[in-house]
Amino acid sequence: MNKKISILGSTGSIGTQSLEVCEKHDFDVIALAAYGNTELLEKQARKFNILYACIYDDKKYNDLKQRLSDTDIKILCGMDGLCEISSLGENDIVLNSVVGMVGLLPTLTAINSGKDVALANKETLVAGGQLVMNLAKEKNVKIYPIDSEHSAVFQCLQGNKRQQLRKMILTASGGPFFGKTYEELKNVTKAQALKHPNWEMGSKITIDSATLMNKGLEFIEAKWLFDLKPEQIEIVVHRQSVVHSAVEYNDYSVIAQMGVPDMKIPIQYALLYPDRLECPTKPLSLTDYGQLTFEKPDFETFKCLKSAIEAIKRGGIYPCLVNSANEESVKLFLNDRIKFIDIGEIVSSVLDEFEYSDIKSYDDVVNADKMAREYVLKKVNL
Ligand code: MN
Repeated sequence: MNKKISILGSTGSIGTQSLEVCEKHDFDVIALAAYGNTELLEKQARKFNILYACIYDDKKYNDLKQRLSDTDIKILCGMDGLCEISSLGENDIVLNSVVGMVGLLPTLTAINSGKDVALANKETLVAGGQLVMNLAKEKNVKIYPIDSEHSAVFQCLQGNKRQQLRKMILTASGGPFFGKTYEELKNVTKAQALKHPNWEMGSKITIDSATLMNKGLEFIEAKWLFDLKPEQIEIVVHRQSVVHSAVEYNDYSVIAQMGVPDMKIPIQYALLYPDRLECPTKPLSLTDYGQLTFEKPDFETFKCLKSAIEAIKRGGIYPCLVNSANEESVKLFLNDRIKFIDIGEIVSSVLDEFEYSDIKSYDDVVNADKMAREYVLKKVNL
């Protein structure tokens, strides 16, 4: 029987690549959700003959309904729609690749419904890591990482004993501005920040890669997924993005996962686990690369990275605060309201601005998120 899957964020970079994997391996796609791209969602809905389609932006609801009016597809919208899809009884697995904090509630909903989750939405674990991991344990649900670094670690753990793991080596491409000084970053333009050397991605994660916030978010994500202490995670800049991450065991053996930089490999591993079948990508030729390099990151220039690590060391609301402050700052940068270096300044400032408090419930996350966003908007509008 074909595995039944729902995909949240189906028109984005991860979503479209996930559908390629689903097509290659004959998955039964039952529901798709997109933020606002009704044109592509319509095409995907028809191609995969789905049962439910959801558009997050409710202003696009009528447009989507119109486009699919000759079909029996049930049209949904907003957060309610995302959560309805996440909890469908038919699902074998829910793939969550929406952008930002928005992804947290659908992830919790899927887990609550006992559905395994293939997780590409890193903000889910950054803002609500404790909640998500506790609930997954309680409901005996599996979370398969799609982020390439976490997929690499997940792959390196197979056949070994988790309790004999010493540390994780989290590789980072370094983004388009690796090696630049803080002074040099002052005049960076949007076009420069949106040009990533190795990966084709959506605009939010591309900016996060330029500020290295992406690596900070992944650091926090790794802590939760693999139950690591912050001291057990080492970040190494690896410009070629061939070694997707590595783990070190007690005997100092280091096991790494390699491959061409193509998200279809980790996506497929999450969806077909534990099977390894041919993937719609190309093989890795090490001699084409010739050299692989490894360097230390610059925590002083890339303040987002330093702040994210500090946030998870402190715990409580801090990871959520830095994440939400970053989401707002990236939006402001993309709308030409602030400069590139302001993102790091704003993100690091929330660590001084707010007192520690615990995250015990989803509402605590919502409150911390709101607080951080209001703070950023107030700070920028002064
Ligand atoms: Mn990644």
